[in-house]
Parts: sequence; C-alpha cells; structure tokens
Amino acid sequence: MENSGFYSIFGKSFKIMQKHRILTFILLIFIAFGCKNEHTASSEASVSEEKNETKAPTFGIVIHGGAGTILKENMSDSLEAAYKAKLEEAIRTGHEILKNGGSAMEAVTKTINIMEDSPLFNAGKGSVFTHEETNELDASVMDGATLNAGAVTGVTQIKNPIDLALSVMNDSPHVMLSGKGAETFAQEQGFELVDPSYFYTENRFQSLQRVKEREAQKADAEKMVFTDPFIKDAKFGTVGCAALDKNGNLAAGTSTGGMTNKRWNRIGDAPIIGAGTYANNATCAVSSTGWGEYFIRAMVAHDISALMEYKGLSLEAAAKEVIQKKVPELGGDGGIVSIDKDGNVAMEFNTAGMYRAHMNAEGELVIGIYSE
Ligand code: ASP
Repeated sequence: MENSGFYSIFGKSFKIMQKHRILTFILLIFIAFGCKNEHTASSEASVSEEKNETKAPTFGIVIHGGAGTILKENMSDSLEAAYKAKLEEAIRTGHEILKNGGSAMEAVTKTINIMEDSPLFNAGKGSVFTHEETNELDASVMDGATLNAGAVTGVTQIKNPIDLALSVMNDSPHVMLSGKGAETFAQEQGFELVDPSYFYTENRFQSLQRVKEREAQKADAEKMVFTDPFIKDAKFGTVGCAALDKNGNLAAGTSTGGMTNKRWNRIGDAPIIGAGTYANNATCAVSSTGWGEYFIRAMVAHDISALMEYKGLSLEAAAKEVIQKKVPELGGDGGIVSIDKDGNVAMEFNTAGMYRAHMNAEGELVIGIYSE
C-alpha cells in the first residue's frame, strides 16, 4: 500500500512535471516566434523607412500661356512683369495642391482657372474675337491614370471652359460637347452662364479690327484662309498645364479662345484629345499651343507620348522631334509643355517666345517668356 501510495504520488508528480514541461516548451516556442516576428516586423519597418527616406514621391507642374511672335522689343517692362506675376500665381496654385497631396487633375484645372480669369491670356476672360466679333471658347482635359477625357468647343457663355471640360469627363458618357448643347449640359450640371459681354476686352477687340483691316487690304480676299501669314502672326495665348501628382498620376488640360478672326465655327487643336491635350501615366502629360490646324494634323500631344511609348525616346527627345521637326516641316509653329511620369519636364517651342513656367517637388520655380 505504502509503495503503491508512494508510486501513485510519484506518478502524479511526474505527470504534473511532464505537463509543465510541455507547457514550458510551448511557452518557449511562443516566445521564440514572438521575438522572431517582432524582429521581422521591425526590420521590415526599417526597410520601408529607408525606402521612404530615399524615395519621397516626386511631383511637378508645368504651364504655358501661349506661344507666338512674342518679342522683348514689343513688350513693356510693366506688361512683362504682369505676365510673370500671373504665371507665378497660377503655377503656385497648382503646386500647393500637389504638395498637399491633391490630384494632378485638380492642380491642372485650378491652375488654368487663374489664367482663364486673367485678361492677359487668350482663354476665358481674355479670349480673342471671331470674325463675327463674338468669342467662342474651347477646352479639354485628360486623366493619365484612366485615359478618360473631356472637351468642349465653341462655348460662348462659360466663364471657365476647363471646368466644363472636366464635367463632361466626369458627369457625361461623352468626351466632347459643342456649342449650345454643351451649354445646356452645363446648366444641367449647375454651371452659371455668363453674358457673352463678359469676354469683351478692348485689346482683343482692337486686335480683331487690325486683322480685319489687313484682310480688307488684300487684293485676293478669297485666299484669306488660315494659311495667310497675318493670321499666323496673330498673337496666340492659349493656356495649358500638365502635372504629376504624388501618386504618380499625370493630367493635362488646355483652354483657349482660338485664333483671332476665326470663322465658320472653326475649331483648333486645344479641345482635340491627342492634338492639344494628352495624358498617359505610362508616358507623359502634354498641353499644346500654336497654329491649331498643324497641331491637329501632326497629332502633336499624342505623338510625343507615342514616341516615348513605342520608340523609347526621352520626353526631351520626343518633344524636340515633334516641335522642332514634324510641325515646322508641315509649315506650322507653336509649342508644348509636358511632364513625364518621373517628373522630367519639357517646354519646347519653335516660335519667338512662349509664356511658360515650371515648378518641381523642391519648389524650384522657372519662368520664361522669350527664347533666351
Ligand atoms: N492652338 C490654338 C488654336 O489653334 C491657338 C493658341 O494656341 O493660341 O486654336
């Protein structure tokens, strides 16, 4: 009995010890794994911290206020200062949006709004006059992430056509709306229509009168089409913007009053996706300005993207190829601004000047007018 008692006590203690050993063993395994996981997690964190340190997401923005015969000798100091100040105000608006993590599209449209509201540029408020002494405005936007796009042409009562182009993209199943229909859509979307007299500026009206006088002086009036040199020399002044946001998304937009003395509801390149505006996250975002007929025929904005995508050209090389070779060989002139998916920028033009500005992620600002 004693023995059996002893053995049973011993047996019980042995079992308890065994149980504890197993528990201890399991505990040790948990601790070991816990430490390992902690270690892995912390080393992953430090790797990603390192990554963040070395690779802060880049962003950038570039704008134009039109290209053309813009010569220093024809510009007063005060006008030059006014252009530079407005370009700076516009680009800083978009840059701030991008710096705070806003989208490329928001930066593009808000930046263009500033220029549309200024009489200095041929877009919105400062739009040029048609032959019939009216103003017909065109605009387009494109989103490089989705390849979605929106455009309006020939609108006469929209204060900021770039906003309507964005609404066509976001709120309609279409890409391009024109004239009265575009304005009906605008009203349905809650846009306020302005009286067409909003677009009257004395400067632009006088430009039209000068062009008309020269037109009248021409013996062969029937040849008065857009191949005439005086139309070519008419100041451009379209506005445009291309941006890259911190998420790697690209967007572009262009807004214009078109060309002075245009007739027959003429439409230029600005509202044509692929000609005046193009954006593709795989390549770049482009906004054009210049002699629209040639920019349509050369499909300028898309051609730059295509040269990068299919031929592997850099943005700089692609922009040079199209603006310094293809467009002039056809007989056209003008320029583009563009930013690629890595934040590289091109501001290429073959005219005497192009109002332009660029700001990078570091906040460095470049503003230019002439072809220095
Ligand atoms: N490209 C515009 C057009 O042909 C004009 C401009 O860029 O100023 O309508």
